[in-house]
Amino acid sequence: MRHKVIYIEGIPVRLLPRKRRSIRLSWDRRERLIHCFYPRSLSSSILKEFLEKRKRRVRELYSQSFVPVESALLLYRGKEYRILLNIDGNGQDFIRDDFSKTIKTPLLNDEVLFFQRWRDYLKREAPLYFEDKIRTCEKKTGLKTSIWRFRAMRSRWGSASAQGGVTLNTLLVMAPGYVVDYVILHELAHLKIPDHSPRFWNEVEHFMPDYRIRKAWLRDNGNRLLSLY
Ligand SMILES: [Zn+2]
Repeated sequence: MRHKVIYIEGIPVRLLPRKRRSIRLSWDRRERLIHCFYPRSLSSSILKEFLEKRKRRVRELYSQSFVPVESALLLYRGKEYRILLNIDGNGQDFIRDDFSKTIKTPLLNDEVLFFQRWRDYLKREAPLYFEDKIRTCEKKTGLKTSIWRFRAMRSRWGSASAQGGVTLNTLLVMAPGYVVDYVILHELAHLKIPDHSPRFWNEVEHFMPDYRIRKAWLRDNGNRLLSLY
C-alpha cells in the first residue's frame, strides 16, 4: 500500500503509520523523500502541527541527503539538467551541455565538494545572468541603486538596504529568467517603498502585471534552490 505524501515547504514527506510511541523522521534514499513514522493513534491534525514545528529539521534532512547520484537533477536557469560523471575531466568542475541538458562533472564521488563547487559555479555565473536583467529593470523603472552585490543566502532571494545597496541571492542562477526579473524588480521597488504595504505591491504590479506567477514559482520551487545553501 502506498501511503500518503504531504509537502512541508515543498519537501515531500511520506506518512507511515506504525505501531510505535514516537514520531521519527528519516531520509529514504530510494524514494528520495522523507519518511515520517508515527503512532497510529495520532490524529492527522496533531501530526501536521508537529511537522510544521519541525520545518527546520525537515529542511535539514532534505539538504543533507541531496546526494548527487547518477540520476540527480539540478536546475540551471530554470531548466532541469541531468548530472553525469565526467571521467576525462579537463580541469573544469562543471561542463554544461544545453543541447542534451546534461551537466558533466568529475566531482560526483565527493558529495561535500560537489555542492561547494556548484555554489561557487553559481556565484561565477551570477553576474553573467543578472547584469542585463538589472540594466533592463533599472531603465524600465527609473530606479537605481548605488551597488549590487551577489552572494548565496540561506533564506532570502534578495535584500535592499537603506543605504541603497541591493543584494541578490546567487542561488537564483538556478531559477528561470522571468523569476529573476521579478526579484530584481522587487528589490528595486524597496528602494522607494521599504515595506510590503499595498502601495509596494501596486508599484511592483505597475511594472510587472503578472508578478504573482513569478512569485509563485519561488514559493513552489524555492526549496530546491535554498536546500543547496
Ligand atoms: Zn520584499
